[in-house]
Amino acid sequence: MGNYEVPKKMLGMKLPGGAKVEAGEYDVPKPGKGQVLLKMKAASLCGSDLKYIYYEHTDKTGGARYDDVIAGHEPSGQVVQVGDGVLDFKEGDRVVVYHIQGCGYCDECKKGYFINCQQPERRAYGWQRDGALAEYMLADVSTCIHLPDFLTYEDGAMIACGFGTAYQGLLRANVSGRDRVLVMGLGPVGQAAVILAKAMGAEVVGVDISQERIDMASKVGADAVFMGDDMVVEKVMEYTDGKGVEVAVDCSGSAVGRHRCLEVARMWGNVVFLGEQGTVNFEPSPLLLHKNLTLHGSWVTSVGNMERLVEFLDRKKIHPSQIITHRYPLRETEEAYRIFATGKTGKVCVNMELE
Ligand SMILES: [Zn+2]
Ligand SMILES: [Zn+2]
Repeated sequence: MGNYEVPKKMLGMKLPGGAKVEAGEYDVPKPGKGQVLLKMKAASLCGSDLKYIYYEHTDKTGGARYDDVIAGHEPSGQVVQVGDGVLDFKEGDRVVVYHIQGCGYCDECKKGYFINCQQPERRAYGWQRDGALAEYMLADVSTCIHLPDFLTYEDGAMIACGFGTAYQGLLRANVSGRDRVLVMGLGPVGQAAVILAKAMGAEVVGVDISQERIDMASKVGADAVFMGDDMVVEKVMEYTDGKGVEVAVDCSGSAVGRHRCLEVARMWGNVVFLGEQGTVNFEPSPLLLHKNLTLHGSWVTSVGNMERLVEFLDRKKIHPSQIITHRYPLRETEEAYRIFATGKTGKVCVNMELE
């Protein structure tokens, strides 16, 4: 890598709204203090990009903010230039990037939860600072994690957001081999939860309303799967001899999915809400109090936990990229979004090594 020559210009993709992807030519940035320049290798698309940026910039209506930047917050790439003061990353290193840079000094940043930073310095890649859908990306080393040889760049992109989020949700419920874990909603985060709960030793039950997603959950290791129809609570209770599951994780974000998680959780069980948006109405007495349930809300993860997740996946020899159903080269990002927006795919990944 020593004599790698960085070009002056690069291709990058922006999301101006109106379901458009805008390809542009941009200057390749230079790494400043504590930064590295990454040659991007993989960047996956996320449901949150669709919800908050792709169709409309919902910041106008109180949603998340998107500045005029290169999109993509699930980055994985290789270091090609190193700025001043960088000690633990060098040219040639393979990295996954935790997708938010925090202020570094608030309580949450000190714990590594840059996601929770409330300071104006907080900037997410692909939302408030240039992100992953480009040939090169500038990254703060505080957000970089080394990718072991076993894990591919596509694996890294999966970890940067979705797998990190699923891992954190399972940590909140302290999932172990003693548990039966029900995953409600088998989109990419749900599939990640199935794979990780299984790797933690749990027995895993998957529920969704799409047959394709149910089939995929079986393929990635769910012990039992159920269609999310009116009978699903009864079927899960029967499956667990009338007791319910130790842990129920909602990845659906739907009112009915959340309610069913509370219904199928067993006495003293844990329920984790990971799916975003929507609402839920429930009767606390029968569903929460009298069952002595613990209900967790969980949002993304910390840099430290993401680092441990990378180590865990390497040790268990698990490739998160198994949930990718569609791959595109960078110049076909628009098509990647179009297909992803149909809601009929698994994870969609832009792979910069494809032509
Ligand atoms: Zn994401
Ligand atoms: Zn902070």
